Amino acid sequence: MANLDSKIPEGPIENKWSNYKSKQNLVNPANKRKLDVIVVGTGLAGASAAASLAELGFKVKAFCYQDSPRRAHSIAAQGGINAAKNYPNDGDSIYRLFYDTVKGGDYRSREANVYRLAEVSNNIIDQCVAQGVPFAREYGGMLDNRSFGGALVSRTFYARGQTGQQLLLGAYQAQSRQVKLGNIEMYPRQEVMNVVLIDGKARGVIIRDAITGETQRHSAHAVVLATGGYGNVFFLSTMAMGSNVSAIWQAYKKGAAFSNPCYVQIHPTCIPVHGEFQSKLTLMSESLRNDGRIWVPKQKEDALRIQKGEITAEDIPEEGRDYYLERRYPAFGNLVPRDVASRAAKERCDAGFGVGTTGLAVFLDFKDSLERLGKDTIEAKYGNLFQMYEKINDFNPYKTPMMIYPAIHYTMGGLWVDYELQTTISGLFAVGEANFSDHGANRLGASALMQGLADGYFVLPYTIQSYLADEINTPRFSTDGEEFEQAEKETKENLEKLMSIKGNYSVDTFHKRLGKIMWENVGMERNKAGLQKAITEIQQLRKEFWVDLLVPGELNDLNPELQKATRVADFLELGELMARDALNREESCGGHFREEFQTKEGEALRNDKDFAYVAAWEFTGVDKEPALTKEQLKFEAIELKQRNYK
Ligand SMILES: Cc1cc2nc3c(=O)[nH]c(=O)nc-3n(C[C@H](O)[C@H](O)[C@H](O)COP(=O)(O)OP(=O)(O)OC[C@H]3O[C@@H](n4cnc5c(N)ncnc54)[C@H](O)[C@@H]3O)c2cc1C
Repeated sequence: MANLDSKIPEGPIENKWSNYKSKQNLVNPANKRKLDVIVVGTGLAGASAAASLAELGFKVKAFCYQDSPRRAHSIAAQGGINAAKNYPNDGDSIYRLFYDTVKGGDYRSREANVYRLAEVSNNIIDQCVAQGVPFAREYGGMLDNRSFGGALVSRTFYARGQTGQQLLLGAYQAQSRQVKLGNIEMYPRQEVMNVVLIDGKARGVIIRDAITGETQRHSAHAVVLATGGYGNVFFLSTMAMGSNVSAIWQAYKKGAAFSNPCYVQIHPTCIPVHGEFQSKLTLMSESLRNDGRIWVPKQKEDALRIQKGEITAEDIPEEGRDYYLERRYPAFGNLVPRDVASRAAKERCDAGFGVGTTGLAVFLDFKDSLERLGKDTIEAKYGNLFQMYEKINDFNPYKTPMMIYPAIHYTMGGLWVDYELQTTISGLFAVGEANFSDHGANRLGASALMQGLADGYFVLPYTIQSYLADEINTPRFSTDGEEFEQAEKETKENLEKLMSIKGNYSVDTFHKRLGKIMWENVGMERNKAGLQKAITEIQQLRKEFWVDLLVPGELNDLNPELQKATRVADFLELGELMARDALNREESCGGHFREEFQTKEGEALRNDKDFAYVAAWEFTGVDKEPALTKEQLKFEAIELKQRNYK
């Protein structure tokens, strides 16, 4: 059974982090130089962690599978990053950001972690401004804010629709500076395939060079996984095509507990699926819901005529439009959290009021705000998003409402970590989307960037020292030991096995089939029968994969199909764990909606008595049931309530 000591510091919530920092073990500057840290992943979480650790004086080796850290999935983040600065003077505070985040996550996150996140949020903005991140400013020169879902204040800092890109360039520069100074060795196009443990501690990784196909060994005193989310288990998602679960999955198989794998975020504002041959879905940022109004026709006949192409949105008069979010949730309107907005869209479409040729879309309309604010203002705020929409759909959103539908977007689950961001494996840390830590069952918009950068710039650089302070007498390791030998052998055998199947079907064929099973049974709505069916179907599909997969090309060469195959092999195991976790959680909370557990109004119905815990799963073997340990959640600063956005 995993030891789930969350290491939450004593004291009132607002003092925990300061108390921790004043009492924790630190490593002195001369010793820092003797300690190596491997950081896997150089998106926002990894790049900020690598830069900060190197700045402190540790020796860092950083890995990513892209040709440059600048291509991490983080670059796609559009809408913004939250912080409790209260610049608009609209009543924000650290407590309110903390409260909104815990409530937004449907009371399934750890209070102490979330409070710390809210506390350091303001430092992130200062740090990034100092780096030169060009956040949007008001006419008077102050940083501008906009609103995201689940909040009654404007606390989202943004750089047009390219916030992730600008933040990543900041972190990349900080990292590059340390590369130049010799404190970071950067290894692009290297995919981590395995984690190496020595005497139960994480001591290194096995990588595969994406160009030559060769495997190599790297050692360090500690390993940090910053490898992002696993939404691509659904095949179609808004995530980068390369986003994968493999590094954290290998860690899970080595003993790291995996938490809340079934908590998946489905974003309400994406371009709808348009055909069988699609491999990617596109997000239209949540920020658009600041000024766009969501509606469907009030009459089914009108919806049907739109679906058939007989009429368009403009033919529906104002009184024929159902602004269903404003109707159902007058207090938050179009800015309800994502899980609520997604389910509401699905409910309308399932009831026959959807638009678009498939009936699986709703309108996001800017008519009112264009009239109120003028085209120039709207263009300044969302120009690149409007342009992107028009390029993909060939409709001009300044003239015609956008059509949107929910899509897989983010994964709240990930490796279990304690307050120090350490997994259940000693010396193995997880940051950013790769850990489960701060968002509970639903992440609020603009909080992922906040968490990734909080982890990387402000939390890990402190907490990892508690561990490293005990490692100062551990000399640098050679990679010749039998643990490295064994881990490299396992990796090579796995790669050879994938190449040798020589079956009939491509990786994508299996991946698409897995995605379909996941979307239909482990997607926006789940039920017991569907989840049981998914488990059986995934097991069957996994068997087929290992006898009928075809990976063309060579083992020791640039081989993107082999790269995909290793990732899909892991997704085929992860999908089953997600279904098991969803089956175990007999309640609805945030993004996890079990049809059997809903209120009369169709809202998520939690069961705090039996399920106010973090599920931490332990690997027991590929075709065996995983073991569950529970970390009971304690709420001392916030009262547990039914979420209400009305
Ligand atoms: C379209 C889109 C828009 C978004 N907009 C916002 C927004 O406006 N605000 C917000 O807060 N959040 C937003 N998000 C969420 C946010 O972008 C992500 O949660 C966040 O960027 C994740 O950062 P990360 O550093 O944890 O992971 P990533 O950016 O995914 O980086 C992962 C890194 O790990 C590396 N890696 C992965 N596996 C391996 C391996 N096996 N070996 C070596 N390297 C590996 C990759 O190369 C990469 O460097 C958005 C997400 C999407 C999909």
